[in-house]
Amino acid sequence: MLKTVVIYIHFLCPVMDTIPPFTQPINREDFKYISSPFGSRINPLTRKNQWHNGIDIAVKNLKTKVYCTAEGIIEELNYDKRKGAYITIKHIGGFKTKYFHLDNVFVRVGEKVSQGQIIAIVGNTGLSSAIHLHYEILFNDEPIDPLLFNRTK
Ligand SMILES: [Zn+2]
Repeated sequence: MLKTVVIYIHFLCPVMDTIPPFTQPINREDFKYISSPFGSRINPLTRKNQWHNGIDIAVKNLKTKVYCTAEGIIEELNYDKRKGAYITIKHIGGFKTKYFHLDNVFVRVGEKVSQGQIIAIVGNTGLSSAIHLHYEILFNDEPIDPLLFNRTK
């Protein structure tokens, strides 16, 4: 929680060079709504109260592309029975982003990726009840609400 406050203060200060200028992982025309926000929630599948480390983005279209939200390096590309096919990207300043429940993945571990690069297709892999993207932003491995970085270009 403290780190969230600290990063929020950083975000409001002009010391922007250590914070990646995150864009959105889904194009506007594919975006439907945020089906589950960041923070405390009742898990729709398990019905248990739990902390949600990211946001769930429901999409309008099949084969929706997932875009890298800031320049970085593919740190992790794996399959997990909860996360499905997922990617972790390491960015500057101790930041990481994570993308879960992916269908096709177009990158490999160690690859340098640029902002706006297509990295995958939105899927329904792992513990997921419908096609959606679970998206996380982490600072020093602590999840931050991605909507804090929501800005229009
Ligand atoms: Zn989620």
